[in-house]
Amino acid sequence: MSPMLPEDDDALAAYAEWAEMGEDAAGNGLALSTLSNVSSDCGLRPGESAEDVLHRVFGFPDFRGVQRQVVDRVLAGESTLAVMPTGAGKSLTYQLPALMLPGTCVVVSPLIALMHDQLRSARANGIRAATLTSADSEDERAAGIEAMRSGQLDLLYVAPERASQGHFRELLARSNVALFAIDEAHCVSEWGHDFRPDYRLLRPLMDAFPDVPRLALTATADAHTRADILAQLGISDDGLIVAGFDRPNIRYAIRPRDGAPQQLAALLKENPGAGIVYAPTRRQVEELAAKLAAATGRPVRPYHAGLDPAVRAANQAAFVAAEDMVMVATVAFGMGIDKPDVRFVAHAAMPKSIEGYYQETGRAGRDGDPAVAVMLWGAEDFLKARQRLSEVEPARLPGERARLDSLAALVETAGCRRALLLRHFGEDPPASCGNCDTCLDPPKVVDATELARKVLSAAYRTGQSFGLGHIANVLTGKDDERVRTRGHDQLSVFGIVGAEEAPLLRPLVRALQARGALVATEHGGLALGGNARAILIGEEPFGMTLPPAGASRGGRKRRDAAAANPVGDPLFEALRSLRRELAAEAGVPPYVIFHDATLREMATLKPASQAELGRIAGIGARKLEAYGDAFLAAIRNH
Ligand code: ADP
Ligand code: ZN
Repeated sequence: MSPMLPEDDDALAAYAEWAEMGEDAAGNGLALSTLSNVSSDCGLRPGESAEDVLHRVFGFPDFRGVQRQVVDRVLAGESTLAVMPTGAGKSLTYQLPALMLPGTCVVVSPLIALMHDQLRSARANGIRAATLTSADSEDERAAGIEAMRSGQLDLLYVAPERASQGHFRELLARSNVALFAIDEAHCVSEWGHDFRPDYRLLRPLMDAFPDVPRLALTATADAHTRADILAQLGISDDGLIVAGFDRPNIRYAIRPRDGAPQQLAALLKENPGAGIVYAPTRRQVEELAAKLAAATGRPVRPYHAGLDPAVRAANQAAFVAAEDMVMVATVAFGMGIDKPDVRFVAHAAMPKSIEGYYQETGRAGRDGDPAVAVMLWGAEDFLKARQRLSEVEPARLPGERARLDSLAALVETAGCRRALLLRHFGEDPPASCGNCDTCLDPPKVVDATELARKVLSAAYRTGQSFGLGHIANVLTGKDDERVRTRGHDQLSVFGIVGAEEAPLLRPLVRALQARGALVATEHGGLALGGNARAILIGEEPFGMTLPPAGASRGGRKRRDAAAANPVGDPLFEALRSLRRELAAEAGVPPYVIFHDATLREMATLKPASQAELGRIAGIGARKLEAYGDAFLAAIRNH
């Protein structure tokens, strides 16, 4: 069997990188030399509980969601597969046990960029961590190996290719291994979306150390994939822990596309933080990036697989390090980006599937602060997607159709978007979430059966070869030369749509296209398809949702996201600028020093002592020691 491959060029290029970068490319432009100071021991102190370590080292008041359950299993030596959505805090579930268990936790991770990101965060908390990759110098690798063998290392990050080599197994045999943590564990399964054959070599390695517990982690795995991961990694079925898919801090909004550059520029103006805009083609990426930069004056960069690799790496590094950059990108961008403070993700066109949509929007708001996901869609998106169906092999056709139908249901629903998404992933959510566009601004649902019959009938009677413009002209009885020369003013459908219904024609045709009742011909005309007949003969009613007025422009009165930050508050801004300086000095992104939420709490509580500062969430002992005085001084002098 071959690995699952995405269909289009950019996804393919991203896949190729994903497959290679594990061992052979650095893929991360940030200075690594600053990381080489091996951190001090912040390991277990006598009598310390998991909670104590959570408070002291990580500075968090409580475990979140299923973290406690997972940590308890690991500490009890039981193997586990934890399925937790992005931002749920997977890394803590092995980092914390790594501090409490004697020996080293070996973390298998698929991308060097991911490993170095994790390394930075772990070391910032004082955890003794090292990576073993081709991007590290000989000396760095030797230091890591030495630290491990002498029992001085909590975490060792390694790619699956290296982990499966003989000399690595020897290293483990001569060291004390506390835990195997397998990140992005869906890579082990052919059912998952990123199958990495090297992940299959982990099983024999782990089997050679039968007493070492295993912890597999993934954000995306359906039931099928979960079962496969358990089997492939030798974890018993009762070791499965699944957290919900919900990302409550992400506000979903889906709007008809109506001048994407303006709609997106409005979004950028409302959301000053970092964001990603996905566009379908490389050309659109370049164009949109230029337009958005010009319209908003914000730092905007393009990213797609056609760019020079050095430019791409530089753009990615700049995005990760910046607090306000916008990346306009194809789906080639995103894998291996662990930036927690992405405030919005926008889709300039419909994504490939609900899974893709969930994964791409999931890159927003990992830090738990409010974030927005905005999708713009148009009838062309469905036309193109349905055209592509003709190239699909027959066996895959029903699946591909179902995929499109789910997307149509998502963009057209008058119900809660989140509820629809979660039901798609097999959950049973409340009917309304209060944090998506349809919950906040319920659209009108109208019975459009009669109008739909008129439109379909006009498409049929004009020979199924004209587009919306002509069909609308006929239906509204327009005095138009093209209509007259074709004799279409003689048809029974001529002039049967009145002025009050005319504005509904465009959204209606969009809805008919989304549901496949109208399909595109080769020459851009509209032909009947799907259940058009049933609608025409009055067998099927046709309801349509009308987006609330003004929604299509994207310009809401309500400030969209990022509202959590008191932007413009002088103390908050001063703390942010201090964070920027410290981050630049250390050669790390600002979020590695402190998250926005931590700065917000500082600005509100204005702590006056180390002890007060240490009680703020996100400030562990190591960060208190490293940055406490600087932030206390900034607060005092303000
Ligand atoms: P994932 O890998 O699941 O996407 P991460 O491990 O990157 O998530 O964690 C996401 C963010 O949540 C991190 O910035 C982390 O500091 C924060 N976090 C993790 N656990 C907790 C907790 N118990 N309380 C507060 N914040 C947490
Ligand atoms: Zn909702």
